[in-house]
Amino acid sequence: MTGVFSLLPDGRPGLLAPLLSGAWLSGGGEDGARYLAAGGYAPLTSPGRLLDRIAAVGLRGRGGAGFPAAVKIQAVRDAPGPPVVVANGEEGEPGSVKDRWLLRHRPHLVLDGIRLVAAMTGAERGCVYLSDAPAEQAVRQALAECPPTPRIDVVRTEHTYVAGEETAVVRRIDGGPALPTAKPPRPFESGVGGAPTLVANVETLARIALIHSRPEAADAVAGSHLVTLSGGSGASALAEVPAGTHLKVLADLCRHGRAEAVLLGGLFGGLHGPGWTDLPLDHDRLRAAGGALGCGALHFLHPEDCPVAVANEATAYLAAQSARQCGVCVAGTGAMARTLTDVARGRSDDDSAGKLHRWSRQLPGRGACGLLDAAARVVATLLAHFPEHVEAHRRSRCAACETATPEDGRRFTVPVP
Ligand code: SF4
Repeated sequence: MTGVFSLLPDGRPGLLAPLLSGAWLSGGGEDGARYLAAGGYAPLTSPGRLLDRIAAVGLRGRGGAGFPAAVKIQAVRDAPGPPVVVANGEEGEPGSVKDRWLLRHRPHLVLDGIRLVAAMTGAERGCVYLSDAPAEQAVRQALAECPPTPRIDVVRTEHTYVAGEETAVVRRIDGGPALPTAKPPRPFESGVGGAPTLVANVETLARIALIHSRPEAADAVAGSHLVTLSGGSGASALAEVPAGTHLKVLADLCRHGRAEAVLLGGLFGGLHGPGWTDLPLDHDRLRAAGGALGCGALHFLHPEDCPVAVANEATAYLAAQSARQCGVCVAGTGAMARTLTDVARGRSDDDSAGKLHRWSRQLPGRGACGLLDAAARVVATLLAHFPEHVEAHRRSRCAACETATPEDGRRFTVPVP
């Protein structure tokens, strides 16, 4: 079962609301004429004022890192040479659907965001980067309906965990493989074709378009999030919610109220057990709790789910998805996954937990992208929040672990509603 919900207070503008009301749907996609009639693609008379507004409301990027959007835009604006703006719609986290949903159903809002960021930075070229075929079809249809300025190309990539990492995006658009490169330089310094490049998540761009068309509600737009909710029973949802919403409310929304733990940020924010229900949807508060909001994907664990099995599947999937470019990632992610498999299958030794603990502290930050960090955080939070579960696997067999399917990521994969 999948669903689309809005928990925004009445009257608060959101990314989902017009479609939930059915007002703008035309053949399954956003209707360009109605988007125009509702104030879309309105002229931007003062790019600097829009940038100030984005800074004032504190809009943060929605790709995962939560970096202030205005700082990123300003860096590209200040860089020498005509920049490029890329809408990054390649969501590598298997538990996230928001970006594909937005491109499929609100392509004009995203294209409008590219147009506005191009005006703020002086970019003469835009690009939509994606792997999802229905999203590509919707974007191409929208481009034909309302040909934009500047020119916007569509670049298709393969769907992998790392294909949406910003340096992988640049490399693929330049004709190479969708694999991360070492930083620096970062794309804002030298990106597509060597030009300063803003790689922005599609939700970030959609919120910029909404801030432009509804300036009186800019605070509320910047303070709302798209989240993807899923869990062991199969129920999943895409929801738009105010920042600060307690995770328990999100669990109840898609009937995961019995959940005893949650995996945050897709695979990036780690496992959280007792007390997770009191955590709010907030970058800083989740980080203070040792987690990360990431792309806003939450996977709930029910009483019958084993945290060791979930961690084993997550790390094995990440090891299989490693781009195999950095020796420390290949060796480190693989070692953590194999050792967790030993724990899950009752084959651990006296030092297994100790090795996992050491690796989870030593490895973060040493790969070219965040994949290694994600695996280390899953391990660290498993050990921190579920030590009794890890220890119990030394004494007795675990049925959940025996039926786990490492590597394929099936448990975490959510269909686009
Ligand atoms: S950290 Fe891993 S996934 Fe990332 S670039 Fe290096 S080898 Fe590839």
